[in-house]
Amino acid sequence: MDLIKDIDIISVEEAQACDFKTTADENTGKTKKLYIESYGCQMNFSDSEIVASIMKENGFDTTSDFEQADVIFLNTCSIREKAELTVRKRLSQFQKAKKNKPELTIGVLGCMAERLKENLLTEEKIVDVVVGPDAYRDLPNLISAAEDGEKGVNTFLSREETYADIAPVRLNSNGVTAFISIMRGCDNMCSFCVVPFTRGRERSRDPYSIVAEAKDLFENGYKEVTLLGQNVDSYKWSPEENNKARLNKKEEEVTQVVNFANLLEMVARVSPYLRVRFSTSHPKDITDEVLHTIKKYDNICKYIHLPVQSGNSRVLDLMNRTYDREWYLNRVQAIREILGEECGISSDMIAGFCTETEEEHQDTLSLMDIVKYDFSYMFYYSERPGTLAAKKYADDIPLETKKRRLAEIISKQSELSFERNKLDLHQEQLILIEGFSKKSDQQLKGRNSANKVVIIPADQVKKGDYVRVRITEVSQATLFGEVLEVNPVLA
Ligand code: SAM
Ligand code: SF4
Repeated sequence: MDLIKDIDIISVEEAQACDFKTTADENTGKTKKLYIESYGCQMNFSDSEIVASIMKENGFDTTSDFEQADVIFLNTCSIREKAELTVRKRLSQFQKAKKNKPELTIGVLGCMAERLKENLLTEEKIVDVVVGPDAYRDLPNLISAAEDGEKGVNTFLSREETYADIAPVRLNSNGVTAFISIMRGCDNMCSFCVVPFTRGRERSRDPYSIVAEAKDLFENGYKEVTLLGQNVDSYKWSPEENNKARLNKKEEEVTQVVNFANLLEMVARVSPYLRVRFSTSHPKDITDEVLHTIKKYDNICKYIHLPVQSGNSRVLDLMNRTYDREWYLNRVQAIREILGEECGISSDMIAGFCTETEEEHQDTLSLMDIVKYDFSYMFYYSERPGTLAAKKYADDIPLETKKRRLAEIISKQSELSFERNKLDLHQEQLILIEGFSKKSDQQLKGRNSANKVVIIPADQVKKGDYVRVRITEVSQATLFGEVLEVNPVLA
């Protein structure tokens, strides 16, 4: 799932589908070629940029054609069953390529590594290396062992690794917007979720390395960074300790603690011309301090991805989200009071979690009506082996019911997206141009502060420009604007 992509209007099938990205062709004269196919969330796509950087240092250029590759990596996702099935299908296709080219090395990286290493390496023998998300520094060793015919595996989950010193190689970049990973792992134990098991304990990355990466991107023409973490509001770092659980235990001994509000401010100060976004915010952790910091800087975008998962307090309790409906609505009220009606809010929703009744499903729809989300990423519950829910609760909602409830949630979101977009009509907004629109090279596509796509005519404007526009037309998914001013002064 792509946390950032605007998939507000989608079918039930699309809502469960898997998005993936592949490496582009790069030829800097290196001897070997690497192909990476990455599934899942933006964190995973960012990890592939770290992997590409490590492999580049070790003699690899990237390719977009797996048949040209010496090494193929599948960077995998386990978040829903569909993601795992897709990866398995893809592996069997790569196996065919290996029949014609036996020296080809095939590796499975990321979230599926730990759970499937036995099957993939020893039983089915379909891959050469299996490497978990905290062991990418070991890739060059494992690859050379594999070239000598030895299967390589490292799924060790670290308590400290943040790859802070590795400058990611930007893959699939538009040259304007980039993602910066600020933390790894997750200490929450949402009962439906595999992330704590596949990505380990929560660690925060050195804020000075984050600011240095943001500065470097800005100096190279980028105009927007998105700070990424499973729960960014929980970010907490000190020079003595970057592991959240340990840091909290040592609270008295540590100095110069940097929290998420502090980090946001440090990145916002890089330049008023560098926009700052962040994802994901957790309703239990988002503070008024963070909201006031967002308000204080024009270049921190007024958009919060605040996944609710369910609108019913009993279901939220079963999900172990550690907040209830009232708490969530109170946080939304704080956003509205501090950042105003125009701040974009989006959510993730899970339909048909264990034992969810029809009335409880209605609570999700009614909460959506109250919050009026700009868009949402919507899924039906998919039981994941090893999670708390898989151990404790029966996955007892029939698939047809899950799909019907999801369709109702999607239809509600379509109405709300349109309703929210209509509020933008005739407004003046600042957008950052990301490139041509999907439909025509006569039109450019930008985003406003609230993360909505705005389409404008392409005359006299180019990628990377800031443009002040007036919104002239809106649909459920998109805004259309006329140009008022190109590259205004931003103080
Ligand atoms: N850390 C983020 C948070 O707490 O909101 C979410 C991370 S998760 C990669 C993205 C989304 O996938 C979740 O918010 C949830 O809606 C969905 N998801 C996770 N596990 C799921 C499951 N077992 N079945 C269906 N959807 C799931
Ligand atoms: Fe998963 Fe919950 Fe952590 Fe998000 S906060 S990654 S849903 S355990």
